[in-house]
Amino acid sequence: MRTSNQDNYLARQDKGIWAVADGMGGHNGGEIASQIACQMLGEAFAEPTVEGLVDAIEAANAAVHRAGADDPQLTGMGTTVVALAVVEHEGDEVLAIANVGDSRCYRYAAGELDQVTTDHSLVADLVREGSLSPEEAAVHPQRNIVTRVLGPQDEVRVDVFAVDPHDGDRFVLCSDGLFSEVPEPAIAAVLATTEDPEEAAHELVRLAVDGGGRDNVTVVVVDVVGDGSRAAEASAALARDGG
Ligand code: MG
Repeated sequence: MRTSNQDNYLARQDKGIWAVADGMGGHNGGEIASQIACQMLGEAFAEPTVEGLVDAIEAANAAVHRAGADDPQLTGMGTTVVALAVVEHEGDEVLAIANVGDSRCYRYAAGELDQVTTDHSLVADLVREGSLSPEEAAVHPQRNIVTRVLGPQDEVRVDVFAVDPHDGDRFVLCSDGLFSEVPEPAIAAVLATTEDPEEAAHELVRLAVDGGGRDNVTVVVVDVVGDGSRAAEASAALARDGG
């Protein structure tokens, strides 16, 4: 259960890794957990492979867990994470996208917005079971209950996806503060009309704040820039806290 929400992000163009984390826990635990996770993810991402990204997230989990175990006030603190990294996979450059919790990665390509990640949340489970519609889930009073996070346990299960990058694709990493306030067609409209990724991230945050801003909101936009077939020169990212 969330007792506070504190976002952090990682943007390391030099290493080709970006991430958003949304922490939870009392006594500033949420902010500390998401901060430790982002920092450790940046440090531990040493091998640009799909496995290397999973290893880095596992290292981030261990770091949050240790910090929680060392301080009784922070015991049980946790954080979501969603990360995107440029990696080598079977001789090609691809994007590895990994998540734990309900922070999301969307891909905007050819005018369509798709959620790449699967939420680890109570309402997402209920939608999969057919007990809730996606529309009911979006306004459900328990929609912020997550079923998997970094930190509380010494091990964590990480979902990971490998995606072929195409020139012009845009990826959005975000905390639930974005999609709980801004409907997906509005997210897509910003990505369609705002060319600069930093401006697009700012605009998405602004829409979430204008929509109610009941939570922190963090957005990182990563554009695939390249000359076509096998482009993976992901560029420019930005995030900002709005809540
Ligand atoms: Mg949140």
